[in-house]
Amino acid sequence: TLVLGIESSCDETAAALVDGNRTIVAQRIASQDEEHAPFGGVVPEIAARAHAERLAPMIEGVLADAGVALSDCDAIAATAGPGLIGGVMVGLVSAKALAMASDKPLIAINHLEGHALSPRLADAALEFPYALLLVSGGHCQILRVDGVGQYRRFATTIDDALGEAFDKTAKILGLGFPGGPAVEQLAREGDGKAVPLPRPMIGSGEPHFSFAGLKSAVMRAHDSGKYEIADIAASFQQAGIDCVIDRLQIALNAMGPVPTLVVAGGVAANKVVRSALEELAAAREMRFTAPPPRLCTDNAAMIAWAGIERLQLKDFAPDPLDIAARPRWPLDPDAQPARGAGV
Ligand code: ATP
Ligand code: MG
Ligand code: FE
Repeated sequence: TLVLGIESSCDETAAALVDGNRTIVAQRIASQDEEHAPFGGVVPEIAARAHAERLAPMIEGVLADAGVALSDCDAIAATAGPGLIGGVMVGLVSAKALAMASDKPLIAINHLEGHALSPRLADAALEFPYALLLVSGGHCQILRVDGVGQYRRFATTIDDALGEAFDKTAKILGLGFPGGPAVEQLAREGDGKAVPLPRPMIGSGEPHFSFAGLKSAVMRAHDSGKYEIADIAASFQQAGIDCVIDRLQIALNAMGPVPTLVVAGGVAANKVVRSALEELAAAREMRFTAPPPRLCTDNAAMIAWAGIERLQLKDFAPDPLDIAARPRWPLDPDAQPARGAGV
């Protein structure tokens, strides 16, 4: 099995070929950091234009790298949401055109499903069910994954995602964009106990997240002029991790026994986050697994892999060529919003 994957939901343009043996046969990725850096965040219109310019030659390049033709692929998988709608449309429409031209099935992938299944691309031993902490730029959720397409959400954020909090902290501290890796690096030189910061939601019996108050506290600490920025970075990171661990305990208790704890999404690239989760898993006698950092942040290999997982389902059916791009698309359609807030 060979699937072409396309990702364009935020600010990475990516294409990849993945086979049924979990081999990433070829992949290319172009980040738009330079385009968006002057604005301190992703500008949707600039992102869509950059995807439109880069995607077609990138797909040609990936096929050339692998020495295969489109006709050698078994399906074309593309992110169909959630994300910035202009970018999603560029990738999805490209995939439709390729599917039509090659007479191959189109598979419209939920970007969050790409993140959710990425640990199975990296770790062949990872079986369902597993507990998933999905921590990215736009989402912060705890889910029970019982199979492909079977996601039950136990927690979400009532305001910001954890990755967003890293990005905002980086902006406050003047570290530029994107912020996560910069905060992690600076935090290594700081003291995580130096700055008193809140741990929002800790003690709540519901496992939901909140990071807006933490971000405001970071801003006040910075404005006070009393602290080194490395200490603020380290203290912020520690507060975020404390929240994640506390919320996970509540969610795991509610979830019922699952053998494995899994983390995915951009923040899963963070080494301190990973080791805190590893400790939690050990304490609960769970196995822990996380994809390598390059599979945590946005990429097309995880989209191709989700396509392979879908293709291998007994009841697989290709998606229709008129399927719409979706700016919002919850993984668990039955999940109730936390206190009426975001998905
Ligand atoms: P979503 O997947 O929710 O649609 P996204 O695709 O923009 O959002 P990802 O690419 O999965 O998000 O992750 C990007 C986020 O991960 C950014 O907020 C970034 O700051 C964060 N991130 C990346 N590396 C690290 C790191 N080493 N430490 C902390 N955060 C990180
Ligand atoms: Mg990005
Ligand atoms: Fe993502």
